[in-house]
Amino acid sequence: MKVIVGQGSCGVATGAKKTADEFERQIAEKNLNIKVGITGCVGTCYLEPIVDVYDDEGGMTRYVKVQPEIVAEIVEKHLLGGKPAVEYVISEVDSQFVGKQKRVVLRNCGLIDPENIEEYLAVGGYEATKKVVTSMKPEEVIEEIKVAGLRGRGGAGFPTWFKWNAAKGNPGKNKYIVCNADEGDPGAFMDRSVLEGDPHSLIEGMIIGGFAMGATEGIIYCRAEYPLAIHRLEIAMAQAREKGYLGKDIFGSGFDFDLRIKAGAGAFVCGEETALIASLEGERGMPRLKPPFPAEKGYWQQPTNINNVETFANVAWIIANGGAAFGAMGTQQSKGTKVFALAGKIKKGGLVEVPMGLPLKDVIYGIGDGIKKDKKFKAVQMGGPSGGCIPAELIETPVTYEDINKTGAIVGSGGMIVMDEETCMVDMARYFLDFTRKESCGKCNYCRVGTKRMLEILERITRGEGEDGDIELLEELAYKIKDGSLCGLGQTAPNPVLTTIRYFRNEYEDHIYKKK
Ligand code: SF4
Repeated sequence: MKVIVGQGSCGVATGAKKTADEFERQIAEKNLNIKVGITGCVGTCYLEPIVDVYDDEGGMTRYVKVQPEIVAEIVEKHLLGGKPAVEYVISEVDSQFVGKQKRVVLRNCGLIDPENIEEYLAVGGYEATKKVVTSMKPEEVIEEIKVAGLRGRGGAGFPTWFKWNAAKGNPGKNKYIVCNADEGDPGAFMDRSVLEGDPHSLIEGMIIGGFAMGATEGIIYCRAEYPLAIHRLEIAMAQAREKGYLGKDIFGSGFDFDLRIKAGAGAFVCGEETALIASLEGERGMPRLKPPFPAEKGYWQQPTNINNVETFANVAWIIANGGAAFGAMGTQQSKGTKVFALAGKIKKGGLVEVPMGLPLKDVIYGIGDGIKKDKKFKAVQMGGPSGGCIPAELIETPVTYEDINKTGAIVGSGGMIVMDEETCMVDMARYFLDFTRKESCGKCNYCRVGTKRMLEILERITRGEGEDGDIELLEELAYKIKDGSLCGLGQTAPNPVLTTIRYFRNEYEDHIYKKK
């Protein structure tokens, strides 16, 4: 028998460490031979702290919201008595949340101990790396990723194989593979959960990518606000090196590849590739004109490929199961699965992974169980501050890059902030614009000054001091900022305003003309 306490940041924030300590104390006091282990976030953040009790045959009983006060009862009834303490067990609610999902990226999150490489190996870990470095050619790896149809999960949705192939094809003294783990969207925590719950899947994806493009060095650019993620990555990298899966002569193949972590200061603009590279080089994180693209001249002017955590976390699965198996999920143009962070006015906030193409309604109601206090669903903000809001009448929209783009929002990195009937959409747009204004690097006038002017107008409107013509002025400024900005931050900053004007113009008018 063993007791596993979920200790992703969500678990820790709700007191999981104290719960684990209490289990250890009671188990020691009663002289039981039961191990207390850890795992990452299983996705049901709304049920933390979560405790899984495994019997010797591998059967699992899940306890939720386990605070230290109820540990004694679980120990007494289950660990000593052999019967679940039923009042704390979750069953059907949990299966509703988890059952509709398809977990590829999150395949190990909440199941294995992220600090113990043996548990990763027990579920087939590093088999894909071994296969790649000992029996495949780089172009065969790229072909497999092409067959899979994997597109960058960081927001742009660019074909991964194409970027890898470009970096492979460009000459350079050194080549670099970089992971953007600088997740900056408010309400997004997809990457953090993978880093905390299954760091080896990222490491494997980067080794395989490095092999495919001929890079011998990889850098994980992770925001310093993710200390637990960095801690677990460091442990995982050390364990992989010790086993010979990272470093010199991986699996005796002659392929050398190593990784290091660079902690970023959490600037949103450093999600942009050229700004991220500038930050890696010790410069201020500011985007530069492209071309040249990083695949040609990136880190220290060498061919560089950048993907985000989720993109890399798919790679070992694709190699192990075949690109065709990945491509069989999702739709023709948006293949595979996508992880979303469900937040806001939703009953079950947490992390979900679904096949692309699933209607938004199935995510919000089918998995997230609808709106808190059974209020009316009003809209969902997708794609973070660069995205847009999708109103209730479009709730049947399939979650694909193409369909979400048609609404004016974007899939982005996977943030889904759900709003109910009481949310003021003008205020929501003001919040996101305030965020991007603060995060603007200041290089372009339209982005630096334009977002400030838009924000002033929005503040005026929400104070009840809006004027006739303000909506048109907002729209005019928005399109000028989109056209006149150098990077994605400025080009997308007006999206929350534009989509709320498109779908909720009446709310702007009520503020302006009825002074609501
Ligand atoms: Fe900087 Fe904004 Fe210009 Fe991007 S668009 S380079 S964030 S000023």
